[in-house]
Amino acid sequence: MITRFLGRVFSGQLFKPPQPKIIPFGRHGIARDSISACALRVTQTLQHHEFSAFVVGGAVRDLLLGGRPKDYDVATDATPEEVRALFRRSRVIGRRFRIVHVMCGPEIVEVSTFRGANPADESDGRVADEHGRILRDNVFGTQEQDATRRDFSINALFYDPATQEIWDYHDGVADLRRRRLRMIGEPEARYREDPVRMLRAARLAASTGLEIDPRARKPIRRLAPLLANVPAARLMDELLKLLLSGHAADGIAHLRREGLQHGVLPLLDRVMSERAGERLVAAALKATDQRVLAGKPVSPGFLFASLLWREVLAAWKRFEEKGEPAVPALYSAMDHVLKRQAEKLPIHNRFTADMKEIWAMQPRFLHRSGKRPYRLLQHPRFRAGYDFLLLRCESGEVESAIGEWWERFQNAGEAARSQMLVQGAEPGRRRRRRRRPRGRNDERGKSEKPASTRGTNS
Ligand code: ATP
Ligand code: MG
Repeated sequence: MITRFLGRVFSGQLFKPPQPKIIPFGRHGIARDSISACALRVTQTLQHHEFSAFVVGGAVRDLLLGGRPKDYDVATDATPEEVRALFRRSRVIGRRFRIVHVMCGPEIVEVSTFRGANPADESDGRVADEHGRILRDNVFGTQEQDATRRDFSINALFYDPATQEIWDYHDGVADLRRRRLRMIGEPEARYREDPVRMLRAARLAASTGLEIDPRARKPIRRLAPLLANVPAARLMDELLKLLLSGHAADGIAHLRREGLQHGVLPLLDRVMSERAGERLVAAALKATDQRVLAGKPVSPGFLFASLLWREVLAAWKRFEEKGEPAVPALYSAMDHVLKRQAEKLPIHNRFTADMKEIWAMQPRFLHRSGKRPYRLLQHPRFRAGYDFLLLRCESGEVESAIGEWWERFQNAGEAARSQMLVQGAEPGRRRRRRRRPRGRNDERGKSEKPASTRGTNS
């Protein structure tokens, strides 16, 4: 008995790393022609050069769930340089993880070398900060180690297009069937290594409909403040993925349920605490999800504008009460709200420019006499401003008659348009004129009252 045991030890049998469950095509049904041509070409080329290569991560998960993957990741034992040498249209990117982007036409496949599972230590290529967050991680390893370094069991499935087998090291297929989002390893340690995994949990729970496993869920609320140590660019990437996933409404609900919203959208709770705010955000998220699922483009600027609008309205009122004329007060409010947001997570300039345009257009929709409606129609971003007005109507903030008027006005012929103009001076106009400072005719000087007080009377 003892001799047999020692024999097994020395033959290495007892030290063998965990073996994957290999699931044949007959039990999962994912045929190689259901993966993208580019992912197929990448795995075939690598395998032809004696490297191992698998489709991995979200694509395998989404195919098993019956969905269509947005993009493909490939894992291989070839180093980034070896991959780079095999594909003419490819480039090495990344610092934290060095990966290779292989381009085939418009499609990009991300190819990563199997990561090792060594403890954080500067000497072996991994560097962590004082909270345990991994800053750089370029240690290569085996396929099994790579599986263990992934976040959730359902994201650690490897599909080999040549054999049509799935290699499953962490019971991901069983978790998919049980509809469980289960973290590989000890959840708290994995969140400390990379707090973005908490946001990924919320996003994946929303997009897959799986339930976050209680062990993975429990530490999130307590560890949520660790998001403050993550670089803003990564947080913004992850937030945008959530907002543009086609499941934004559910994603935001998950963020709030887990207490993760403070680190990314600090003003959201206040916005959602009042009924009109909640309705506006719900309408914006629903419209975004419908557009994404219909394959239409969506504008992050528009979405952020709706998430923060009620805060802008509240600040606008405060600035006016302090004596600022209406339009300058609106601009002060926009700056104030964007500054508050930026303390946690700055929104990129290209989006804030859109947001400001959309916000600044809103009071102009209330003027339906003279030349103003014609001028507004010519605004290059009229469509976005108008869609935003409709959301405000839907939320009950603005009378729906105003949205309907603009709908008719846009589509009417010249004669009908002039008939539609609201006759007589608009309420408040004379008073505004008196308040306008002398010689000031820039945008900010054109005084208009907040929509909240005028939305129902013009
Ligand atoms: P998506 O559908 O958004 O592409 P995904 O799961 O494929 O979802 P990616 O960001 O493309 O997400 O990552 C690919 C894979 O890399 C994941 O499935 C997972 O295995 C691994 N991964 C990504 N981010 C992390 C992380 N923060 N920690 C551990 N593993 C990760
Ligand atoms: Mg992916």
